Amino acid sequence: MMHSTATPDLRLVLVEPSHPGNIGAAARAMRTMGLRQLVLVNPHAFPHAEASAMAAGADDVLAAARVCARLDEAIGDCRFVLGCSARRRHVPLTEHSPREAASALWTHATHGPAALLFGRERTGLTNDELMHCNGSVFIPSDPEFSSLNLAASVQVLSYELRLRQLGAPVQAGPATAPERDEPPATHAQMEGLFGHFDQTLHDIDFHKGRAPDTVMQRLRRLLLRAEPDQREVRVLRGILSDAQRMARLARAAGAVATPNPGPADPAD
Ligand code: SAH
Repeated sequence: MMHSTATPDLRLVLVEPSHPGNIGAAARAMRTMGLRQLVLVNPHAFPHAEASAMAAGADDVLAAARVCARLDEAIGDCRFVLGCSARRRHVPLTEHSPREAASALWTHATHGPAALLFGRERTGLTNDELMHCNGSVFIPSDPEFSSLNLAASVQVLSYELRLRQLGAPVQAGPATAPERDEPPATHAQMEGLFGHFDQTLHDIDFHKGRAPDTVMQRLRRLLLRAEPDQREVRVLRGILSDAQRMARLARAAGAVATPNPGPADPAD
């Protein structure tokens, strides 16, 4: 049975913000739109007088803000994560408009924790951080001047979330959470699965000289898009464990078949 929560469990995550003023302005932007869960990953300076000044009364959001050392801690329990990016990078991710993003986030957040990530003022989110997301969000700004101020982009997305909360008609979007009989896998469970895939592909010598990163990126995209539930992740990991076991057996059998192996074949 899926458990719906009355209040959507949605957090906004600022990754390594360098200006405390932006943290305060983001808190204010959220509070005006009825959002309260702010998470800061390794902020340069927090708490800070400039943050409080820019919050202009949204001190409760700042006071309740959770500070994490690493992104994994901020989103480990999340089942759906989107990342805001001012640039269209060469990462294979589904891109959402702010409206689609708000709709997908709101729907997912009624079933369990969901997160919306914002990047650093100077450099945004890294490709690696974006690859932890189910999709990206792009505010359709002027291509010649595409980067909004961090707090301004928080305001745009918070406003779209507000519209969604107030019952704005949902556009046809790519992501709506289907009803399922098992809870969706958490971020941490997905990362465990990817680590297991990575190791198994090495164990079974899948790569054979090809770039492992490309394969892992594709697998991430596929599996994050599929939004597997927890049982599906257990099944996949069971398969991987068996593949690893078979690879070990094959290696052991090979060692028995050649009791006196010579020096490694240079063609290997
Ligand atoms: N120079 C950075 C911009 C960082 S702006 C870069 O090129 O990535 C700080 C953050 O605000 C970004 O990481 C992103 O999360 C958000 N942001 C700014 N403009 C945006 C846009 N047009 N669409 C989506 N997010 C945006």
